[in-house]
Amino acid sequence: MKRSPPNRIRKFGQLTTTGHVAKRVVGQLDESRLYSEVVCRHGNKRWVRTGYLNNKFTTNCRRWDECNVPKQGQRFGSLAATGRIKRRVIGRQRRLFAEVTCEHDVKKWIRLDILKIRESTNRCRTWKECGLTRGEQSHYDYLRTRTPAVNRQQIFDIQQVCIICGNVRSNAALNSREHFIPVVRFVRMKEMELSTKQALAHSLFNIFGAHSFCNKSRGDMPLAQYWKLHPEYEAPVRQAFANMMALRNPQGDKAMRIIKRLLREADWLLGANTAGTTKKIFASNWTASSPTRWKN
Ligand SMILES: [Zn+2]
Ligand SMILES: [Zn+2]
Ligand SMILES: [Zn+2]
Repeated sequence: MKRSPPNRIRKFGQLTTTGHVAKRVVGQLDESRLYSEVVCRHGNKRWVRTGYLNNKFTTNCRRWDECNVPKQGQRFGSLAATGRIKRRVIGRQRRLFAEVTCEHDVKKWIRLDILKIRESTNRCRTWKECGLTRGEQSHYDYLRTRTPAVNRQQIFDIQQVCIICGNVRSNAALNSREHFIPVVRFVRMKEMELSTKQALAHSLFNIFGAHSFCNKSRGDMPLAQYWKLHPEYEAPVRQAFANMMALRNPQGDKAMRIIKRLLREADWLLGANTAGTTKKIFASNWTASSPTRWKN
């Protein structure tokens, strides 16, 4: 880049030129473009395309990482920055993430631009590990680390589609194992022993394959409720569920109690109106168990 002698100093929005200009070759056509050095209100300098300044495309330093590093303790709504940042590639862009902590001492990485835009509404209300009582929190900590090891590839092969979106939302390969009934909901169940929570939440019957982004989108919502928002997801999921049940082959009262909870989660429990359909769906696929089992 060849520098020309200092030029006239001008203001473009929040940016001020330093007077230095230069030509740079850009793009595949080897076109040469004019660049201006600018300084922002934080005193950081960058070279930007002069054309972008003139047409007001670039008017501030909001997207400059060096101007966006939150200090430890800096608040965003009810969240506070820990001072740690990291870059992650999202699509084709490198994004800056800031680690924040909430009033419950739960830490999360949040995209900095989103954190800044939603400053006034930032809070942990939708984080599933938040809003737990102290006792529930300790149950959560206990359970979180005890998800059983499973053969993911086997699950993905058997299920074919995501247990949340049925691959309607995305045809991407399944990439995570998730709980049909989220752990955090077991955690919140009152008057249930931790050992029971552990047995139910981490029963193999409760573990399925999913897209991790679908699980994120679903949060701690019951699937039946989630599918009210996306009704087209449910039908292919039923098939995936049935395929998994054929693999897991639930037998005995204990297994049936868990399965009943799963069916309730999906609003597939045998009822006066739905008995016929439910029986049809599962009886044809669960080769190992007779449909009469589902009546109790
Ligand atoms: Zn700046
Ligand atoms: Zn919180
Ligand atoms: Zn999905």
